[in-house]
Amino acid sequence: MERRSRIRFSPSEIARMEKLVSNRKERVFDENFCRKLAEEFNRSAARVGSRALQPTQFPASTTKPTCLLTISEEEKTLASEADAFVSEIKTPVSEGKVLGLDTSISNNEDALSMDLPKDTTDKVPELENLQFEARSSKDFAWYDIDNFMAHRTTSSGEVEVYVRFAGFGAEEDEWVNVRKSIRQQSIPLESSECRNIATGDLVLCFKESNDDALHFDGHVLDIQRKQHDIRGCRCVFLVEYDHDGSQERVNLKRLSRRPKYL
Ligand SMILES: [Zn+2]
Repeated sequence: MERRSRIRFSPSEIARMEKLVSNRKERVFDENFCRKLAEEFNRSAARVGSRALQPTQFPASTTKPTCLLTISEEEKTLASEADAFVSEIKTPVSEGKVLGLDTSISNNEDALSMDLPKDTTDKVPELENLQFEARSSKDFAWYDIDNFMAHRTTSSGEVEVYVRFAGFGAEEDEWVNVRKSIRQQSIPLESSECRNIATGDLVLCFKESNDDALHFDGHVLDIQRKQHDIRGCRCVFLVEYDHDGSQERVNLKRLSRRPKYL
């Protein structure tokens, strides 16, 4: 099965899109507009070294003229549905999972001195701001969830939800186990957060191959700390992918971290 790769927009890019959406009365963002937006984002310092965004990677730009409508309205819908969903299932495990409770908080004091705060915790988000990702049983990759369509309890008592993946249509919808394969979205790492990643940490790693580019869980086996320069983090992370045990050396831009709360 072929999937389009998932594109993560940075908070500043989402804010920019939201602003543009709110400024456009008709809320129709055509292909030409998405192309200009892609060019703008690709010029930004934050995308240096990353694959260039394509106009078609903006939400639904090729299938619907309203390519950016999703950012403000659909995500609000999703958040409120997720809220209802969380309160409805009320399993003790899911609360910990949904909030991404992570015991492997790192505080690596011997790392290089860098331009960053030492705070390794995140503010607990309001429920309506929670966004989720789900692991597909077809390829073991994680995808942002666009919508929760239904839920059911299996004969063994496990709760499953039927999800629509962001950027995909109904033909890719899947039943997903809530306890094992739904969680709050991972957070793309900024250069200033490099020091918060330690050996042994669970990360979401962007893996590119000839056919596709997907996000998989992996664990950090080793870190070569390097002096940061004007381009940001130059460190190299050796990651072992959980789903197939393969290893790869990647830079920080390929990694997202799990939310951490105290
Ligand atoms: Zn670094």
